Amino acid sequence: MELHFLGTGSCYPSPDRGASCTVLRHETGCWMFDCGEGTQIQLMKSTLKPGRINKIFITHLHGDHLFGLPGLLCTIGLNCAENKQPIEIYGPVGLRKYIRLSLELSQSLLGFSYSVTELQCFDSGPALPGDDVEQAHSLSGFDSLHPNETQGGMILANDSGVWEVCREGTLTVSAAPLKHRITCFGFVIQEQQLPGKLDPNILKRKGIPPGPLYAKIKNGETITAPDGSLIQPTDVMGLPRPGRKVVILGDTCDSSRITDIAFDADVVVHEATLENELMAQCIDHGHSTPEMAGQLARKIKAKKLVLTHFSQRYKRVSDIEENGTDDAVTVKKLLLQAKKAFLPGSVVVADDFMVIQISQKRE
Ligand SMILES: [Zn+2]
Ligand SMILES: [Zn+2]
Repeated sequence: MELHFLGTGSCYPSPDRGASCTVLRHETGCWMFDCGEGTQIQLMKSTLKPGRINKIFITHLHGDHLFGLPGLLCTIGLNCAENKQPIEIYGPVGLRKYIRLSLELSQSLLGFSYSVTELQCFDSGPALPGDDVEQAHSLSGFDSLHPNETQGGMILANDSGVWEVCREGTLTVSAAPLKHRITCFGFVIQEQQLPGKLDPNILKRKGIPPGPLYAKIKNGETITAPDGSLIQPTDVMGLPRPGRKVVILGDTCDSSRITDIAFDADVVVHEATLENELMAQCIDHGHSTPEMAGQLARKIKAKKLVLTHFSQRYKRVSDIEENGTDDAVTVKKLLLQAKKAFLPGSVVVADDFMVIQISQKRE
């Protein structure tokens, strides 16, 4: 399982940083989180295969997280194989209409089918899409599907205020709202618990050679040793290991509502748009400082914090070393500030095309 950062800048894409996009690559596909303008070019420059994308999650409808989506879908459509898997798209109310209108007005046809499932949120502030059911339905445009569109759905929060978004293979995705200027979500990807490790030495001592019986016992079946004794999986396997948990947040000036479902994350990807000294301005625009990101990571006891969504004013450290001026501010400033608020050895500043491995837990 890997996280690929395709766009780590806020507001707009620049020659230095793409607009927001993060991809979780795992065993069954590539899941994209946000799709800012220019994402398709970033994708082509990366090691990822666009045809492998089978789910896209949009945290909120600001352009720097969304404007790349219609173009990306069209390009995947031009290049994909005939049997391209459908793409499931999830995000706030209004997303269905945006995609449908973009494709319809440009008379775009895709070579694959897609569906849109919207997360309806009633309590994220005044005058927002999704505030009332009538408005939500008119924004959703339920009436006529695009020729490549299959029926999606609408998800409401459960009693705990969590959106149970989807499940595929060993992974489930849930979401919680984040405070921002418009409806915005954070997503939590949870892997189911993994079976404990098999101890081959015990099996060898019982006279069982490596082979099909190993597979059986790994699948939870009881097997019989040559001496006739029964061997239960619990006799030769360690305790189940917790699955991995990845938390990818949209823009926010208060991410506290995701705390419960994000607890114990292996990785949390949190925005840090401006430095601590500009906190008032940052919160005013619905964004976070490195300190705020660090506080959330500390609260949920995350193992790693990855900062992203940097104001374009923060340059790459390497760019400054090569041709910058002394007074230029780099992301290093944001990194140091987050380290003060969280575990110093566990903070990373994302950069375009950075890849972070998320290993299986050993215990
Ligand atoms: Zn943004
Ligand atoms: Zn935003």
